[in-house]
Amino acid sequence: MGMDVIGKDPISEVGRYFRNNVWWWRPLATYIVQEHTLLAVGCSHWQSNSGDGLNAEQSQALADALDADLASGKVAQWAAEYAAEVAALPRETCWLCEGTGVRTDDIGVQHGFNKPRDPETGRGGCNGCSGIGTTEPPAASYPFDVDNVREFATFVRASGGFEIW
Ligand SMILES: [Zn+2]
Repeated sequence: MGMDVIGKDPISEVGRYFRNNVWWWRPLATYIVQEHTLLAVGCSHWQSNSGDGLNAEQSQALADALDADLASGKVAQWAAEYAAEVAALPRETCWLCEGTGVRTDDIGVQHGFNKPRDPETGRGGCNGCSGIGTTEPPAASYPFDVDNVREFATFVRASGGFEIW
């Protein structure tokens, strides 16, 4: 599952195509919409595969803005703050074992997940949480970093406008 972003009138190979899986795409699109609301407004559906996007002029303006953010360190700061926010979120009760660390359902019993995890062998315990009873919050699955923004900015600059599919 992901976003295929297609250049409408690419001026080079790099402007033809950009892809993020959905976990990488969500924070990237959120950054653009939050930090550059007026530049992003030409596209109403950043978070869906509906073919919405920006035209050539809008894309140039966005590429300029993203390059400026990369140069000023704004993206790096945003990435650090985002990572800190995610790290501060509480872990969630594991839905597979309801926080007990062992699975007593049929599948759990069949695979030996119904016995507490043996720290020596790493065997046993719930397979959803490694027997801990909690899992990372969903937000931890949505990464954001400088390289991904740089890659997207490079694509956008050469795309001649783009559509998100
Ligand atoms: Zn569990």
